[in-house]
Amino acid sequence: MDHKAFIFDIKRNSSEDGPGIRTTVFFKGCPLSCSWCQNPEGISPGPSLSFRAELCRPDQCERPCLKACRLKALTLQDQQLRLDRERCDQCGRCAAVCSQHALERVGQWLSVDELFYRVAIDKPFFDATGGGVTASGGECTTQMNFLHHFFKKLKAAGIHTAIETNGMFNFGRFTRLLLPWLDLVYFDLKLIDEATSIRHTGHSNRPILDNLLRLTECAEIPVKVRIPLIPNITATDENLRGIARFLREHRIEQVSALPYNPLWLDKLQRFGIDTDYRYAAFMSDAEIERCVDSLQAC
Ligand code: SF4
Ligand code: SF4
Repeated sequence: MDHKAFIFDIKRNSSEDGPGIRTTVFFKGCPLSCSWCQNPEGISPGPSLSFRAELCRPDQCERPCLKACRLKALTLQDQQLRLDRERCDQCGRCAAVCSQHALERVGQWLSVDELFYRVAIDKPFFDATGGGVTASGGECTTQMNFLHHFFKKLKAAGIHTAIETNGMFNFGRFTRLLLPWLDLVYFDLKLIDEATSIRHTGHSNRPILDNLLRLTECAEIPVKVRIPLIPNITATDENLRGIARFLREHRIEQVSALPYNPLWLDKLQRFGIDTDYRYAAFMSDAEIERCVDSLQAC
């Protein structure tokens, strides 16, 4: 059977998603909807239409996109192209005819073999640096069956494998289909309080905490906890102390913090994403130090 996955990006030469030089593959679809999501185009499991108004030149082109759109989701108003996302079904016909790349359909189906050949091209770099392939997202475990076959193929080729997960997965399937083929897990831990988790991610954190404890108990590979520092949400003294207490109580020691990066904000307009969270600054060294102090205080 030809297993396929829906993927929205492949980044070569990545150095932040595991040891050595890596290729990171971003899978579409996520059960959470964090208000600060750095890859909001990865949340929906289907294609997403990107519209970069700054690249659109309706005065210098024949506006083929208007004709291509059967749903009348595109209109011209005051010489500016307008996209009505309520009408749009992400078919991508407009993107196919836009020579300016102002419109782009994000997301593509790839088979195990197609993805394997795209990443295996960098095997010499992986071998030379101790690198490999990291599956990210979205939440890559939403495409668990595909990942099983993909990781199996990578391991057969001697390539190091890692995933970045938010912890919202079916534990039985994870340990059966993925764990035997993994070398490393990065496990995101965002919020310790259940009500706060529901408010900011749309879900209870209980399954996530349970999965973390069960995984750290049974896994024979490193499970590294990563805490995204999101100003005013996760990067509060109360949350970080709560996480630190939880980790200490369960003797989980491999932990790091990821400082907030505001560069995702331009994606809100590009993908028409609605969120109240629009914190626009990088964290200062002093803010990061305060967070580290909170994590070390308990
Ligand atoms: S989106 Fe592309 S094709 Fe449509 S008007 Fe703008 S530049 Fe022209
Ligand atoms: S993706 Fe399809 S429906 Fe949406 S604007 Fe383009 S042509 Fe119209």
